[in-house]
Parts: sequence; C-alpha cells; structure tokens
Amino acid sequence: MEWEVVIGLEIHAQLATKTKIFSSASTAYGAQPNTQACAVDLGLPGVLPVLNQEAVKMAVKFGLAIGAEMAERSVFARKNYFYPDLPKGYQISQMELPIVGKGELTIELEDGSERIIGVTRAHLEEDAGKSIHGHTQGQTGVDLNRAGTPLLEIVSEPDMRSAKEAVAYMKKIHTLVQYLEICDGNMQEGSFRCDSNVSVRPKGQKELGTRAELKNINSFRNVERAINVEIERQIELIEDGGMVVQETRLYDAEKNETRSMRSKEEANDYRYFPDPDLLPVVLEQEMIDEMRASLPELPDAKRDRFVSELDLSRYDASVLTSSRELANYFESVLAASNNNDPKLCANWIITQLSGALNKTSLEIDDSPISAKQLAGLLIRISDNTISGKIAKQIFDVLWNGEGDDADSIIEEQGLKQVTDSGAIEAIVDEVIANNADQATQYRAGKEQLLGFFVGQVMKASKGKANPAQVNEILKAKLAG
Ligand code: ADP
Ligand code: MG
Repeated sequence: MEWEVVIGLEIHAQLATKTKIFSSASTAYGAQPNTQACAVDLGLPGVLPVLNQEAVKMAVKFGLAIGAEMAERSVFARKNYFYPDLPKGYQISQMELPIVGKGELTIELEDGSERIIGVTRAHLEEDAGKSIHGHTQGQTGVDLNRAGTPLLEIVSEPDMRSAKEAVAYMKKIHTLVQYLEICDGNMQEGSFRCDSNVSVRPKGQKELGTRAELKNINSFRNVERAINVEIERQIELIEDGGMVVQETRLYDAEKNETRSMRSKEEANDYRYFPDPDLLPVVLEQEMIDEMRASLPELPDAKRDRFVSELDLSRYDASVLTSSRELANYFESVLAASNNNDPKLCANWIITQLSGALNKTSLEIDDSPISAKQLAGLLIRISDNTISGKIAKQIFDVLWNGEGDDADSIIEEQGLKQVTDSGAIEAIVDEVIANNADQATQYRAGKEQLLGFFVGQVMKASKGKANPAQVNEILKAKLAG
C-alpha cells in the first residue's frame, strides 16, 4: 500500500509589541516572575481590556504580505478553560471572525521545485502565563509575565505532503515575520512556536485520514524528526490493523518518539463566545493602505531582484534572502564595493563568511568582519591586487581582529600580487630548471603536470604571483 502524508501547521508568532495586547504591561523577556503582570493580566475583577493598536497593525502587515483577505470586521472571543496559568479562566482569542482570512505563500524545496501552501487564517490572541516546576520543592510556581503577550496564530491548510515541506513552510513564515519586523523569531525564548497536525491516507483517497496534533516543538530539526516518527507510527499502526485516534501527542526528542497527551474525548469544550468587554475590530482602508506602504521589500521579491538585476544564481539569491540581516549585509558589502562584482560578494558571504560564522555559532549581526571590511577585501581581489588565496589569509587576519582593513594588511605584510611578467618569468625559469625531469615528461605529452608546475611557482612566489599569468607563462615556456 502506498501512503500519502498530510500535514497542516498552526504557528504561534509572538508579536513584537512593547506592551501587551490588552494592557500596558511590558512584554520584555526574562524579567523576574510576576513583575510584568498588571491587574488586567492577573484577571482581577473590575478591569477591562484595551486593545493594543500595534498588534492589529502587525497582523494587517502579515495579511498583506501573504496576499490574504483582510476582515473588515473581526471579533474577539473567549476560549474558556481552566488552568493555573490562566487567571481569567478564559483566553481572549478570535474564533469565527479572524482578522486575517485566506492567503498563500510559495515554498521552495531542496530540489528547486516550488509549491504553493494555503494559509487558512491568522488570528490575534493573548498568550497564557507559565507554570514553573522545580523552582520550589514540591510546589509549582506560576509566572504571569507572559500572560497577555500578543500572539498571531497562523493556521495553514493541510497542504503539506512531507516533513521537509512542513519545515520549508515553517521557515518561510519565520523569515517573513522577521522581514516584517512583527516577531523576533526567537525559538528558544518561545517567540515562534509550532503545532503540527499529521495524518496519512492511502494514495489516491480523497478524504483526509484521522490526524494527531504534535504540540510545541521548539526547533526546525525537531519538527522534521517529530513528524517523521509520527508518520511511521501511524502507518505501522494502520498496517497492523489498528486505527489512528484524534489526539494531542508530545514529542520526546531524547527518545525520538511521540506520546499521547490527551485524546479528543478528554479535550476541552471551549464554549467560545464573543467577548462582551471588547468591541469588534473594524479595519479602515486608510490604515490598511498605510501598512501596505510601510511593507519592506519581501524575501521573494528580493530574491527575484537579486537574480534579475545582479545576475546571481537562484540558489545564491535564496540563501542571501533567507534572513533580512543576511540580505542587508550583502547589500551593504555590494554598496561599499561600488557594486562591482555581485557574484564575488555572494560567494564570499555564502562560503567564507557564513562558514566562519557557523563554526563559531555567531549570527551575521555579530560578524567580526564588518560589511565595509569585507568590501575592502573584495575590491582588492577584483582589481588583481591580491589573489583569492591571499585574500583568504587576509580574511583570517580581519576575522581575528588583527588588522583594520585589507589595504593596510596588504601593505604591512607585503602581500601585493606580483603581476610584473618579468618577475614571474624569472620564477618560472627557475622552477623549470629545478624540475627538469618533470619538464621532459610534460613535453613528452604528460600535460597534467601543468598543475604541479603552477603549484611550484605559486609556492616560490609565496602565493603572490598572479595565477592567470603564471599559467600563461608556464605553458609558453614549457612548450618552447
Ligand atoms: P482545530 O480546530 O482542532 O484546531 P482545525 O480545523 O483548525 O482544527 O485545524 C487545525 C490544523 O490542522 C490546520 O492547520 C489544518 O490544516 C490541519 N488539519 C486538519 N485536518 C487535518 C488532517 N486530517 N491531517 C492533517 N492536518 C489536518
Ligand atoms: Mg486550531
């Protein structure tokens, strides 16, 4: 039997407002417990929520970025359940009338193919507090700092067909909300979280299979692993004659397995109803237009522009636009090097710089080499002052903070490339004389020895001879 996998994601993006969605308490991360929860967040009687307009604007930006239908009128509803970290006894969310309706985005897969994934809706809601276990022996603490933090819940259509597609979609949203500056995307701090709904069905069947929901997995890697083990579990279960039950499951990363948390029968009936404390949200066209005008160049548009205007490969353009910071860095390097060689800039950022950053777990914003410094180095490669090999040495010097800029390092260490053909000829003559045997073999037809000679000449010149000239002169001399 051939199985088809079906996945839909619910992503919670914490909106980057300074204050909470219905109160003026701060949303800053990491404060002492319960120092950022005011009477509204504590659910004290007699207080009223006041909607934070910034949260609404951010939701609108997101909707516009995915070409979604915007709700002229949306309504907050109470989602009732009992839990210690939810003092009001209900969460304010949006149910029937969400602020953002249907939209879509395009994901790109590793093989370069593209798929369109539907977004069903995105709605505003408040976050709950946090239970803290193990702080006090035998007791559980409740920290309400997070209560009332604005969230945008982004619900996808069940359009994804593999764990890889799900991760590609999640990354796309992750990149997008950061471009829009509506969410910091920090997964460790819980600012970007994802629930994955997974089911399988026999290939060709129209109806969806019964799904399990995998809760709150906090890294891209674990989302992929969790979905894959869940797919395996469901297929095995069905093939052994069993049935998947609709339930919430927890992923245990250590054991790489999912475990039942609660089944549908145990699930809450949330008794949603419109919140009488809040007016419907009415979006005015003027505000929507203002938000549209404030949108930055979005990742797909930037990628396409890098391809069409700068002649970068699609792959390079995708990598460079995968984060707004990286794209900004690239554009700064390009500008500082007078736009002379986009391909060279792209190569050095994608291979050399990103490699060094990865090795040391640094983000592009913390790069020890500034865009200006890298540009200074690339200019000297372009104008043939130095070879690529010497450039790597200089890169290391800059990386280690042992020099200010490429020009002064070239000057101090005498790294200027030798382009004087007389000087190169002298070295070539010497190398050929010292390797007479190889020269005879080369002349007898063993042409692959050219590489050996190039290596010897480069070594004798301490890497400073211009490689193109070395090649040319060597060939001429060996032929003669
Ligand atoms: P709920 O109200 O229980 O959250 P929704 O209908 O809102 O359920 O769906 C939640 C998410 O689950 C959506 O992203 C949707 O695409 C996905 N989904 C729904 N049915 C399936 C299914 N059979 N298999 C996989 N994903 C599904
Ligand atoms: Mg849901």
